[in-house]
Amino acid sequence: MSSVAIHPAVDHGIKPAKEGFSGGTLKCHCSENPVEVTISAQSAHNHVCGCTQCWKPEGVLFSQVAVVPRDSLSVTANGDKLEIIDPTQGIQRHACKACGVHMYGRIEDKGHPFYGLDFIHTELSDADGWAPAGFAAFVSSLIEAGTDPADMDGIRARLREIGLEPYDCLSPPLMDAIATHTAKANAAA
Ligand SMILES: [Zn+2]
Ligand SMILES: [Zn+2]
Repeated sequence: MSSVAIHPAVDHGIKPAKEGFSGGTLKCHCSENPVEVTISAQSAHNHVCGCTQCWKPEGVLFSQVAVVPRDSLSVTANGDKLEIIDPTQGIQRHACKACGVHMYGRIEDKGHPFYGLDFIHTELSDADGWAPAGFAAFVSSLIEAGTDPADMDGIRARLREIGLEPYDCLSPPLMDAIATHTAKANAAA
């Protein structure tokens, strides 16, 4: 069962967050002139994600993705290499044109439940102390990306073994946050 590889950041034991940790620099995979994105906050809601949109390293089943307040994120080097993968998506993923790594996902729609938060991949930073992944999202979507449905039981069992509860959308606290946002928007309409 432990032969199921989820993501390098969680497969060999999950490192705890460091108290007082306040960010670091994300770098794309270019060996020359890498894009750098500086984050001045600890990440929140870090999780592994099985959806087909998030960036993940080559040959890895899940991506790992977290959020930070958008005002804590700034592009600090080689920003001219960034492009938005698909401007029609709710989350606009800014990726390096040269190596394909997604540096951050931003929401421009002020009505979006997660407006004000940017999505980042903390594994792009060398800094030690980021908040670790706490659950697994969009697990059933792995099938859309080519996983054999027969493998799903083993994958969910492995996620539970390493302490990442598997969900087929987001975690209950995040689903509740979205529903609360919708209820407030409906009440105001
Ligand atoms: Zn790059
Ligand atoms: Zn995802």
